[in-house]
Amino acid sequence: MDRIYFDHAATTPVSKNVLEKMMPYFTDMFGNAHSQHTFGRSSIKGVDLARSQVAKAINCLPNEVYFTGSGTEANNWAIKGTAWAKQSKGKHIITSAIEHPSVLNSCSWLKKQGFEVTILPVDRDGKVLLEELKKALRKDTILVSIMLANNEVGTIQPYKEIAKLVKANDSIFHVDAVQAVGSIKVDVKDIGCDLLTLSAHKFYGPKGVGALYIRNGLKIDKLIIGGGQERAMRGGTTNTPAVVGLGQAIEDAVNNLEVYSEHCMKLRDRFIERVEKEIPNVKLNGSRTDRLPNNANFSFEYIEGESILYRLDLAGIAVSSGSACSSGSLEPSHVLLAMGVDIVLGHGSIRFSFGMSNTMEQIDYAVDKLKETIDFLRKMSPLFNWKEGEIQNV
Ligand code: PLP
Repeated sequence: MDRIYFDHAATTPVSKNVLEKMMPYFTDMFGNAHSQHTFGRSSIKGVDLARSQVAKAINCLPNEVYFTGSGTEANNWAIKGTAWAKQSKGKHIITSAIEHPSVLNSCSWLKKQGFEVTILPVDRDGKVLLEELKKALRKDTILVSIMLANNEVGTIQPYKEIAKLVKANDSIFHVDAVQAVGSIKVDVKDIGCDLLTLSAHKFYGPKGVGALYIRNGLKIDKLIIGGGQERAMRGGTTNTPAVVGLGQAIEDAVNNLEVYSEHCMKLRDRFIERVEKEIPNVKLNGSRTDRLPNNANFSFEYIEGESILYRLDLAGIAVSSGSACSSGSLEPSHVLLAMGVDIVLGHGSIRFSFGMSNTMEQIDYAVDKLKETIDFLRKMSPLFNWKEGEIQNV
């Protein structure tokens, strides 16, 4: 069996169609999108098309789309830009405990600048507690930043209820939709947000390019100061091939959404069913119902996630332990801890995230290998006794 990639939440390959659309912008149409001559004009045409492709995909106007160098940059911009622009109204910001580090760390950076930050708790499924949000909202709350879907456990937030509360309080609502775009329908009007972040490499586009939706009429400050690019809101020569790739990738993702979703859900559900049936002492993390179609996250009792990851990698299966964005550290995942997952269980957690190229045969092969891996590691674990195939707590 060829190598199996079950880490699509970390990143996806660039699709052939996207790459094909990008290629001419590296060579023939290499002009600076801001140059006045023919080379520049052919470049800006590609950027304009990409802007309208993004706008169509998320249901906004093209002039509400701003290209950035990543989802991380868009999150930094949304949060810091809003805080700076609205500080005369108030200095209170609300976010949740399960956000991506680009959100949490932007908020803690602002805290050092004199802003006040409330971090909302979540329930066992990883959903923001609406009652807590209600309690936290204040007159001086300028911004609420809550993700649409979580990168580790795939839980989808009750975004409409959140938006309602935020709007009733006259605060600005930012949504990090990096994991959601390309996986579920993302419509800024339906969500009711003012700002929304997306990133191309999560939906078969290139790395190093993202976008921030800024609702017309909302004024936020710049993050990157430079020339007049992105309607003077984000300096830096436009990365035309990447932007063109983002545009094509989001168009393809939206056109393919139903097929993708059905395909991934079938794989995910079979994977979850077999793991729960065939491997003892496992716990599915995240919501069973409000969950991204391509995510399965399990805690395996008594063993370390890293050991599972390395053994699966040896068997040719790529997965992630904790958050892929911050893996490399042996810290238990802040997401699982916030969900109340026991710290020891949190250490034995693995995220499996599926994509278009995965097959049912791969799922079955991976479950078989996973069973062997868990058996092997548990036999070596000092945390329990292994007796005739039965796990017993010690
Ligand atoms: N937000 C979420 C939820 C993510 O999962 C990620 C990346 O994994 C990001 C933001 C950052 O996006 P980027 O990799 O484009 O910086």
